[in-house]
Amino acid sequence: MKSGFVGIFGKPNSGKSTLLNALIGQKLAIISPKVQTTRHRIRGILSGKDYQIVFSDTPGIIEPKYKLHEKMMKAVESSFVDADLALLIVDANDDLQQNDDLFGSLRITVPIMLIINKIDKVSPERLKKTIDFFQDKKYGKNTATISALKKTNIQSLLQSIVNALPDGEPFFEEDDYSDLPVKFFVSEMIREKIFYLYEEEVPYHSTVLIQEFKEKETLTKIRADIIVQRETQKGIILGEKGSMIKRLGTEARKDIEAFLQRKVFLELFVKVRPKWRDSELFLKEFGY
Ligand code: GDP
Ligand code: MG
Repeated sequence: MKSGFVGIFGKPNSGKSTLLNALIGQKLAIISPKVQTTRHRIRGILSGKDYQIVFSDTPGIIEPKYKLHEKMMKAVESSFVDADLALLIVDANDDLQQNDDLFGSLRITVPIMLIINKIDKVSPERLKKTIDFFQDKKYGKNTATISALKKTNIQSLLQSIVNALPDGEPFFEEDDYSDLPVKFFVSEMIREKIFYLYEEEVPYHSTVLIQEFKEKETLTKIRADIIVQRETQKGIILGEKGSMIKRLGTEARKDIEAFLQRKVFLELFVKVRPKWRDSELFLKEFGY
């Protein structure tokens, strides 16, 4: 039996959440084309016949510009400490030197696997250039090329991960898929839709709090607050005559129903909390 903790690291948009989902086979981490969607560590647990892997997806590595960002960096660092294996993931089309600057600066004491992602949209020449570039880096000794989106080479990657883990007993029950509460995933699904539906700073200035989560006989009743920083943002979230929040609610509800496998009644409210991103108190209340 093999078991261990695996951290997934890489620049925003390199495909960490997509890889986690491809490996776990369930939509756990939220994915969006905008950066910084992932604010928390997300644990995904994959149990096989003779292995258990506990994955954590991490926020992208960014400048600690706000308190919120500092918390994200802390989450990244703490993932390093308790991991048995670090997966460093790079977008095959991305600036190679930038990634080297980033990976080279990390102090990682655990075994590393470098994952070159998005091979579905890279030319053979460029892929070779990318592989050659990382070949003689300290962290590049053990490399895999994959497409997280198309699920190319995911099975062989999984086998390599299992092989790299220490012998040990499982940490969690076999049918657990995450150690985070269902409520967390529900709020993340709402947040994901905010990222899809709104432009510019609005998604980054918003967070979601689940205020009520009740299992009724025929459905689950959920009431959530969307917290924004300014009145103008509240107006944008609502849209003309509430048209935008209605769309947000409908789209989020569909995802939540698929996730919970039952009917959902979803109520959304918008609240203004100036500067929530800079306030310790608010960050605590919002679970960061
Ligand atoms: P994260 O910020 O590292 O978690 O990145 P995400 O997993 O959220 O992915 C960012 C964007 O890249 C999304 O639009 C994904 O659909 C896309 N993406 C991820 N993996 C692949 C891949 O293998 N191929 C392609 N073409 N796109 C990918
Ligand atoms: Mg992510």
